[in-house]
Amino acid sequence: MEKNTVEKVQVLIIGSGPAGYSAAIYASRANMNPVLYQGIQPGGQLTITTEVENYPGFPDGIQGPELMIHFEKQAQRMGADLRYGLATKVDFSSTPYKVWIDDEKLIEADAVIIATGASAKWLGIESEQRLNGYGVSACAVCDGFFFRGKEVAIVGAGDTAAEEALYLSKLCSTVHMFIRRDEMRASKIMQDRVMNTANIKMYWNTETDEILGEKSVEGVRVKNNQTNELNTIPVKGFFVAIGHTPNSEIFKDWLHMDEAGYVKTIPGTSKTNVEGVFASGDVQDKIYRQAVTAAGTGCMAALDAERYLSEKGLH
Ligand code: NDP
Repeated sequence: MEKNTVEKVQVLIIGSGPAGYSAAIYASRANMNPVLYQGIQPGGQLTITTEVENYPGFPDGIQGPELMIHFEKQAQRMGADLRYGLATKVDFSSTPYKVWIDDEKLIEADAVIIATGASAKWLGIESEQRLNGYGVSACAVCDGFFFRGKEVAIVGAGDTAAEEALYLSKLCSTVHMFIRRDEMRASKIMQDRVMNTANIKMYWNTETDEILGEKSVEGVRVKNNQTNELNTIPVKGFFVAIGHTPNSEIFKDWLHMDEAGYVKTIPGTSKTNVEGVFASGDVQDKIYRQAVTAAGTGCMAALDAERYLSEKGLH
């Protein structure tokens, strides 16, 4: 990459998950010549999942990485300029907006579409990383189906963990739920639902010591943090639901966010508090977090950007 160069673009898209590529497809077709920077994980979270069965249009399902190659190729075919590179700093104080790529190259853009996604939080133990994709997952809706009729474990005690435990309870024989304190963080209604579900077994004051298995998950060893007692439970799936971190750090001085760092958008739109800066996908969505909803909001961002540029006489 050329160092310390400045390039002016009409629409800059940051991120390459379903939201970013959908924005790129729509923006290209509207002749906005979008430039898209892919970030550190081109294709986003779907590139670390296996089979995707709930993305409409693929009756036989599709592998996550393959789906993202389709997205990428479609954006490219429409004429989007897709590039490697990570946005490292922004300045939204005046137009054109400034975005630095890899701390070197400066892009000046009339409109910016943020589609940087969110990253699942992990426990940070070695076995979790080794068995990721082989029974370890951070998405029950994506992967729960593979454990139909089997015993699984889930760690976490927030609304996400509660929701995912309930989802899994409808598919799996038993859901072992590990909670590190003696109470849950989840809303009362979700706690009640979890506790009243016969095949969810709660383990209080319990932490994951190790996920067991060579090639795939065969069990989990947990520790009671009050008594230090260890317990091994045979499970085939291990779900981590301890929260997500939106990838919004570089925007924090400019955009309104909630306390967890999700970018706030005006309801029903992709507009942020900065005119001409739009947000789509998981960076602004802590509720749905699905590929199809991310793609939908990416489309919204491109349409909102087009309207904005037209109103400003820039397109
Ligand atoms: P939260 O941050 O609310 O909860 C994370 C949970 O994971 C906490 O219970 C926490 O435990 C636990 N945890 C964190 N780190 C570890 C660890 N290393 N080991 C074991 N447990 C750990 O995240 P959520 O994703 O659940 O929710 C995020 C936000 O989204 C919340 O505001 C939630 O209400 C909202 N949400 C709303 C939904 C809805 O309305 N339908 C659905 C899903 C989410 P501890 O409590 O001990 O800190």
